[in-house]
Amino acid sequence: MDMPGIMEILKEHGIRPTRLRISVLEVLMSTGKSYSFTEMHEHFGKKRDRVTIYRTFNLFCESRLIQRVVDVDGVVRFYYCESAAEIHPSFRCRECGMTKALSPLPDYYKAELGNHHMDDAVLLFSGICEGCRKHGKNRKR
Ligand SMILES: [Zn+2]
Repeated sequence: MDMPGIMEILKEHGIRPTRLRISVLEVLMSTGKSYSFTEMHEHFGKKRDRVTIYRTFNLFCESRLIQRVVDVDGVVRFYYCESAAEIHPSFRCRECGMTKALSPLPDYYKAELGNHHMDDAVLLFSGICEGCRKHGKNRKR
């Protein structure tokens, strides 16, 4: 699958585009789903090096290219979103894995937090997405 803009997006975030990095970003962007390291490894039929996938996710996350979320099952997953640099809640469908960014937190949260230093926030809504509700499918990915 050829997705225009992937090379540009990587470059904009200061990431050197290797074949694996392009593939991982392509999967995240084209599926709209969140993946754990293990799930991405399995997605590639375990043909790619697990450690390299792990490093790729971490690099993307540090570069604010993808969003990291601790899921309700305790699994850390990552998904592509344009607002990864901001603190915002996410929604994940537990049936199909579709994950999307919700609006950033309002400024009064920042005021309430005052001068506390915040480096992580666990903000995830979990449920069934509109598409899965409409189709009434009970598929697992
Ligand atoms: Zn769904």
